[in-house]
Amino acid sequence: MTRLRACWRLRNGLVRDRENNRRENKAIRQQGTEAKVRYLTRADQYKAISEYARRDTGLSLVHSQVRQNVAVRVDEGYKRFFDALKKGQTDVHPPKCIELKRYRSLTYPQYGSAAHIGNSKLYLSGLGEFKLYDHRRIKGKPKTVTVKFKQGRWHCIVTAEIQEKDVITRVRCDDDRLDACIDTGLDKLMTDSHGEEYDPPKAWYDHRKQLRKAQKKLSRQFEARQKKHEAMVAEARASGRKAPALKDMPYSNRLRRQIRKVATIHTKIERIRDYHHKKNADVIADRYRRLAVEEHSVKFMIRNRRLAKVASDRAIHKQKLLLQSKLGKRYIAAPNIREEIGGNSQTCTCGAPAPKELKDRMHVCPVCGLVGKRDHVSANIISIIIFGCVSLSLAPEAGQAFVRRGEDEARRGEGLLCESVRPALEFSGKRRSPVRKRNTAGGEPTTGGDTRVHDRVRPVLPREPQAVHHEEVHHGRAPG
Ligand SMILES: [Zn+2]
Repeated sequence: MTRLRACWRLRNGLVRDRENNRRENKAIRQQGTEAKVRYLTRADQYKAISEYARRDTGLSLVHSQVRQNVAVRVDEGYKRFFDALKKGQTDVHPPKCIELKRYRSLTYPQYGSAAHIGNSKLYLSGLGEFKLYDHRRIKGKPKTVTVKFKQGRWHCIVTAEIQEKDVITRVRCDDDRLDACIDTGLDKLMTDSHGEEYDPPKAWYDHRKQLRKAQKKLSRQFEARQKKHEAMVAEARASGRKAPALKDMPYSNRLRRQIRKVATIHTKIERIRDYHHKKNADVIADRYRRLAVEEHSVKFMIRNRRLAKVASDRAIHKQKLLLQSKLGKRYIAAPNIREEIGGNSQTCTCGAPAPKELKDRMHVCPVCGLVGKRDHVSANIISIIIFGCVSLSLAPEAGQAFVRRGEDEARRGEGLLCESVRPALEFSGKRRSPVRKRNTAGGEPTTGGDTRVHDRVRPVLPREPQAVHHEEVHHGRAPG
């Protein structure tokens, strides 16, 4: 903790230096003199660090690379600020001084002699050895070590370098799984185009009563603390002394205990949510070949007072990020609107408008008569945009009724359904020779049963008429 505090002082010092520098430069520019304007760089701040360390004994005990990393963080913050300015964003600010409670981590930028893990122990230079709950094997080459204080515990975060091919499982050309599209929502977190629903428990909602009770108690304790402080100030004023500021008053043990209690509930909620998000991503990655997900901002939901709590509880964006990291290139971002037709949830697969409010959960099309669950239909509209087909699960008649303005007659009965169309992948991992291709008959299991051992000698059945050669690029339309 003392080291963390020293780094926090250093960080705020460096930020202040930058602020002063910017102010001076501004003054120079306004005067319009010939004097050259020079902004502080990371290298300048590296130099300043040794000066800080000379004055601050706490800081001099911190490992030199950790100290330098503080300057890196400040520099990165400024970079992000300038990038945002370049992009024309207006409500951005450069890094500013922060409170100690916001500064919670130290980074060793080089894994090695200064920081390493061995025998379930974490060794940090200048700090010593720590017992580590070593729950995960590190894959790849470790690069940096960060220790972070979060939710009442110290966590160790190791970043490692790893090749993409070792993380993301690529799909083979002969993969016979279906493609799917996903519509996200607040009622059911995700619904895919084949009608499958993913509805993890609403972690916050289930803990809300517990949380409310704990937070109420905490809030009362903070109020009591403030009152106590006011009394102290009054007493000090009467006796002519100076009372300490409220933020310098130490927390009582009772207050600390209560803070920990609230934090524990929040941690629990976060972990439940995280577990189910990861599980969903795993299931989907196993089940489908490619996945298209509607891209839309979730900000509007958070801003909406009525939706904010549920939307935050669902954490749609987090789920999407996890899907992306799990699926890699198998993840496709889809637009949430069809050009000249309209929003995915406000139109039908046939292209007719089907306006709905948020509370309407069923889709009923007045033109083609399609009836279905709202999210299911939306997911199939995404499927039309990306893969050019709808799922059989959306009632077979509905599949036949799929039209794409003027193409309906030409395409009817041509295999518009996902189940029969097997478009080639846009990418392929390791291409295998066609002889070794898995022997499938239109997705049906072959009579041979075991397809693993004798692939090479089994005769190859003729391809499905719709199948595209796997080197062609599929543009989201049924071939032909
Ligand atoms: Zn319709």
